[in-house]
Amino acid sequence: MKWRGASRRRQRRENNGAAIGRADRGENVVAPRVAAITGASSGIGAATARALAGAGYELVLGARRLDRLREVAEPLGARALALDVTDLQSVEAFAAAIPRLDVLVANAGKALGTDRIEAAREELWETMFRTNVLGVLRTVRALLPKLEASGDGLVVVVGSIAGFETYRGGAGYTASKHALRAFTRTLRLELLGKPLRVTELSPGLVETEFSLVRFAGDAERAKKVYQGLQPLTADDVAECVRWVCSLPSHVDVDEIVVRPRDQATATEVHRRGDADDR
Ligand code: NAP
Repeated sequence: MKWRGASRRRQRRENNGAAIGRADRGENVVAPRVAAITGASSGIGAATARALAGAGYELVLGARRLDRLREVAEPLGARALALDVTDLQSVEAFAAAIPRLDVLVANAGKALGTDRIEAAREELWETMFRTNVLGVLRTVRALLPKLEASGDGLVVVVGSIAGFETYRGGAGYTASKHALRAFTRTLRLELLGKPLRVTELSPGLVETEFSLVRFAGDAERAKKVYQGLQPLTADDVAECVRWVCSLPSHVDVDEIVVRPRDQATATEVHRRGDADDR
């Protein structure tokens, strides 16, 4: 598909992120830009859905827990589609259900456990790699043609500071996010010259269901991760995505690293009071 050029980009910005509707070209009627968000049933994905809805985007949301996903989608007038990124057929069905797409936020992901390597469980490593690495790879691959056809596509990959830092007990998760980082850098190279942008968003500590999932539902343990410090909220991270989406299409924010002020590295955090270290 041909790159439509500056006048369309300018018009789109003037129309609060909306693309010029294909059927209505020349009549100055606009169709909203469409964003798909994976892992939108909670946390960063759900907050990003709210942020992009506020910016005028039409949304397609995916996750496994359809009940939770519908709770996010309904108030926003978004479509909620069952999606398991570890299942190729599910990803292909999700992609097939999206007729046109401008922005993909590949966010679905997880950490499981904090076992040291000698004691790590095979099935947790496998699930992390199938979700965080293969899940994103196949989602991006399935949706790239539609993103390119939009004439102004954007892929936001939600990585982590675990994509370039390591910590004891985090081998499976950090290795998966390092791999995701390699994928994202490669994608950027391969898309050079096409009307497609790629952003890797790498958050530090964000208080979501992330730690609850990591500790298999142990709420007490999950709470301790954030004890005595002020973590980022999912809305803080969503605001980064909204900002990236708001920029003119010649501007590619290659990477964003965003952490709480109380966190300098994956292991160096400032806790107040007598809060235990995690
Ligand atoms: P969260 O609240 O647990 O959200 C994770 C989302 O991923 C959920 O919507 C979950 O939905 C979805 N998901 C998990 N497995 C999936 C699968 N197989 N197929 C489709 N969706 C799946 O945690 P979060 O903090 O928002 O995490 C979002 C992303 O941010 C992840 O990639 C995570 O690695 C990254 N991140 C988080 C932090 C943090 O501190 N919270 C820091 C850095 C990076 P279902 O369970 O309904 O499928």
